[in-house]
Amino acid sequence: MSSYITDKAYINGVWCPTATTFEVTNPFSGEVIGKAANCDEALTKTAIEAASKAFVAWKGLTARERAVIFSKWTDLILSEKQALGELITLENGKPLAQSIGEIAYAASFVEWCLEEGRRTYGITVPSPHPSKRMMTIKQPIGVVSMITPWNFPAAMATRKACAALAAGCTVVLKPSEEAPFSALALARLGQQAGIPPGVFNVIPTSRANVAQVGTVLCTHPLVAAVSFTGSTDTGKIILKHAASTVKKVALELGGLAPLLVFDSCDLQKAVQGVMASKFRYSGQTCVCSNRILVQSGIHDKFVAALKDAMEKELVLGDGMKPTTTIGPLINEAGLRKVSDQVKDAIDNGATLVTGGQAVGRNMFEPTLITSVKTSMKCFNEETFGPLAPIYKFDTEEEALSIANNTDTGLASYLFSGDVSQCWRIAEKLETGIVGINEGLFSVPEAPFGGFKESGLGREGSTCALDEFMEIKYMCWGI
Ligand code: ADP
Repeated sequence: MSSYITDKAYINGVWCPTATTFEVTNPFSGEVIGKAANCDEALTKTAIEAASKAFVAWKGLTARERAVIFSKWTDLILSEKQALGELITLENGKPLAQSIGEIAYAASFVEWCLEEGRRTYGITVPSPHPSKRMMTIKQPIGVVSMITPWNFPAAMATRKACAALAAGCTVVLKPSEEAPFSALALARLGQQAGIPPGVFNVIPTSRANVAQVGTVLCTHPLVAAVSFTGSTDTGKIILKHAASTVKKVALELGGLAPLLVFDSCDLQKAVQGVMASKFRYSGQTCVCSNRILVQSGIHDKFVAALKDAMEKELVLGDGMKPTTTIGPLINEAGLRKVSDQVKDAIDNGATLVTGGQAVGRNMFEPTLITSVKTSMKCFNEETFGPLAPIYKFDTEEEALSIANNTDTGLASYLFSGDVSQCWRIAEKLETGIVGINEGLFSVPEAPFGGFKESGLGREGSTCALDEFMEIKYMCWGI
């Protein structure tokens, strides 16, 4: 077990016990890994009030002073990479090498944001009036509520929180009930690095309490903005709640990422692109390729090569074992969803190429199916599991029209050896992110976010802090 597991919440710089706790289980073994603090409405309000008080002093620091603390925080996180990685694997089953990779990724957001904090420039505006001078400054928005998911319990916490903290805001973060300990571990290291009390609060809560705690986080008058990562359905609830007091809202929601493979592509690059974009963390990322469209001329070769790579490279099992490359799904509901999509596809005429079975607790074999139709569930519901469904297409127009025929638009991928086609398709894909001959794109330097119902705003990049700042226009009479 991990020394980072705690049954306390972190509020106003204090590790607070709660009246009740809830159990967190290892999705691979089913063992209870620990009990987590179960915050309620009252504690949520306490955390928000603490964050509001702390805002006054935190925003008063210079960006450089905040950066000194962030720099220590980055070093502490990286020095604990192994232990924090193990904690992620215990909480969500991710293979350990990927969990340790997530910690490095999480630390990279702390580092990026500390640098960006020193670059929140305003502008001077050429005045249309001889008697006036005009300029803007950026100011932190205030207390920010954050709600994070279980699939990247460390990186989603730092991606959001560090942008807000670097902007001079204070934060109340509710981690997912499936994996609450990583955010608490980051708070512990933040405390050691010198983040003052009340600036970064972490309040886990059980599934039973989530609606009421979520409502307080999104409606409390002292909260200025809400940042959420999770399902589109929950995102819509958050947006509705936030509307009552017109809070600024950043949403990073789901998608149905299309991945297009054209006849001219480099076959191995395309196969590796699917391996990375589809099977990383068992297919449980919001940018996982969900609908794979392959042009008829390369279809059979591509399917054979993908099957080969899947059978050679994907070792299903306990994320703690060094040989495991694909772990369990987060819970039984996740397993049921993948099983249901595979059954629906097979019942409606798809061909099973490899996999297809649930095996052991929360585990599903990496699965490849062909002869997929656009009406099937796997083309219309986010899978969040290791299922690669292949649709065969003939023309570029057909592929684009299928790719864009969805209400969501987070990520897309295309593999082609024709540079003009790459430009053409990339410009026409209705998604916030396009991987061109590339299956992995997430870095703090680049913007992450979606079109359509995939969300509002961008995380990371030079836009990261803007989500948490107001622009103030000053007009001077001279
Ligand atoms: P998933 O089904 O993948 O867990 P969710 O959108 O339900 O996706 O969860 C993402 C985050 O949203 C988690 O932290 C979860 O606790 C939280 N959440 C779920 N329902 C609500 C709600 N009604 N209000 C606020 N947060 C919620």
